[in-house]
Amino acid sequence: MTGNKTFTMIKPDAFAAGNSGAIIKMIEEAGFSIKAMKLVKLSAEKAGGFYAVHKERPFYNDLCKYMSSGAIIAIILEKENAVADFRKLIGATNPAEAAEGTIRKLFAKSIEANAVHGSDSDENAAIEGSFFFSELEKF
Ligand code: ATP
Ligand code: MG
Repeated sequence: MTGNKTFTMIKPDAFAAGNSGAIIKMIEEAGFSIKAMKLVKLSAEKAGGFYAVHKERPFYNDLCKYMSSGAIIAIILEKENAVADFRKLIGATNPAEAAEGTIRKLFAKSIEANAVHGSDSDENAAIEGSFFFSELEKF
């Protein structure tokens, strides 16, 4: 039994490049519906909290700097089999390895500035959604 919610962020590179509209269009055309959405600028501390699982990784400090370098759009999405289907839609972490037609293949600039986030499990989708939204903000 898989859940029907996932969480995404349009990351600073994609937002600054003016690609948010095109990315949201692809997400909706793939059958996801938006359950909550907001424009936010993370502090480095907040970004660090969000990506705390990567604390020990060599790219962690750069990742926190990058994720707090500009505005992002945080979105909760709904669809059957949401987590796996969304990871398929965004493609591999490294855009050089992402499949043709995926969001990262089309919009990512690098392995770090890779346009979008996608939750990797139902459990993390719930945790990450609650990081940005209160129960009252979720439709
Ligand atoms: P996300 O969690 O953002 O959806 P992901 O699950 O595909 O991405 P993770 O391994 O969770 O990949 O890494 C989190 C983020 O850290 C990546 O999306 C990317 O921005 C950055 N990152 C991952 N690997 C590297 C790397 N080798 N060098 C620089 N940045 C990296
Ligand atoms: Mg991840």
